[in-house]
Amino acid sequence: MKRQFLSLFMLAVALTAFSWGQKGHDVTAFIAERHLTPAAKAAVDSLLGGKSMVYWANWLDNASHTPEYAYTKTWHYKNIDEGERYEEAKANPAGDAVTAVKAQIETLSNPGATAAQSELAMKILVHVVGDMHQPMHMGHATDLGGNRVKVRFFGRDNNLHSVWDSSIAESGHRWSYTEWADQVDRVTPEEVESLTDGSVDSWAKETMNVAASVYAFFRPGENISYNEVARWTPTVEMQLLRGGLRLAHILNTLFDSDYAATHAPAYVPAR
Ligand SMILES: [Zn+2]
Repeated sequence: MKRQFLSLFMLAVALTAFSWGQKGHDVTAFIAERHLTPAAKAAVDSLLGGKSMVYWANWLDNASHTPEYAYTKTWHYKNIDEGERYEEAKANPAGDAVTAVKAQIETLSNPGATAAQSELAMKILVHVVGDMHQPMHMGHATDLGGNRVKVRFFGRDNNLHSVWDSSIAESGHRWSYTEWADQVDRVTPEEVESLTDGSVDSWAKETMNVAASVYAFFRPGENISYNEVARWTPTVEMQLLRGGLRLAHILNTLFDSDYAATHAPAYVPAR
């Protein structure tokens, strides 16, 4: 029993060190669902066999730990060290969050892709667009995206990455994923337009800049408490909102020709 508990605990540690907490991914996917056009929603429904994006939002965190999908292990983040410019950051040859998002857009816009390839691309995209908006997933390579920055959270030992995956969000609001979406996704159509403007690269760079402000604020060893939760909860809310709206934008440009006619795509695959 004790061993079982321990392995569950280890599993939880492994999973939280991997991405936005589960709820963060659910919120991102649910916000995206709310902003799909009817044509895009129909396409996504058919690709996912009737299951929702929320249903699959966390799938990749699990899958990346299995031999079959071990090749996606590095696709949850992109490391950019201090002083390094986004444009000059070396691409991880095994792939990173940015190349993964682009590759899934490529597959989903390829008429020659099989149904199985498109379904897999959908499941990966839903997840990685979320991770791309977790600031510590655009953190420094030298500290493994904040995993090696020891901090305390209300007196308990933790690290900066894990605090950003879920501790701040869960302390800021005790909401379900639908409540999160209801509270955070209250934007006007004009705000949606401005938040979905840009490209996969400009969004990634923006997250990198959020990460820079996180690194500047949180000192190693500090105890994160009420003040810090209050200070950074709006940033968590904004990153989840951005991720959700941008995921919807990507899918709307891919699957709704009317939407695509009036909106610039976030990434255009080279042909
Ligand atoms: Zn992840």
